[in-house]
Amino acid sequence: MATIFSKIVAGEIPSYKVAEDDKFYAFLDINPLVKGHTLVVPKKEVDYIYDLSDEELAAMHVFAKHVALAIQKAFPCRKVGEAVIGLEVPHAHIHLIPIQNESDMLFSNPKLKLSDEEFKSIEERIHNAWEGKA
Ligand code: 5GP
Repeated sequence: MATIFSKIVAGEIPSYKVAEDDKFYAFLDINPLVKGHTLVVPKKEVDYIYDLSDEELAAMHVFAKHVALAIQKAFPCRKVGEAVIGLEVPHAHIHLIPIQNESDMLFSNPKLKLSDEEFKSIEERIHNAWEGKA
């Protein structure tokens, strides 16, 4: 059965997409720790990120790097932190989180509740800052 992230990639479930190429897809986490919290997923359905080949994992990180640069441009921050957990959704993904402090990366923090308009505005700001956009 397709994962929820495969359904998002296929457009069967809506998402706030910030970047996409032929192999990867980046969209806003629906329960963000901070504004700009983004997920990067491979279009290929693999549960554990370290089951990707060396080449796929490297390419995923290069794609994530350019999304991170766009996030930082759109939401000025000290750094964009990267995290891999993957216990909730069995489809490999990288969390990209704009951070001012280490504590911004704590997944035990309360999640933001954002309106559709707020998500759309964040999506647009990051997408516009992404250098890979068409
Ligand atoms: P993890 O698997 O890394 O523990 O967490 C999965 C992440 O995916 C969570 O941060 C959660 O908020 C996010 N997530 C789960 N379902 C959806 C969804 O349907 N849409 C979006 N945009 N994010 C989701």
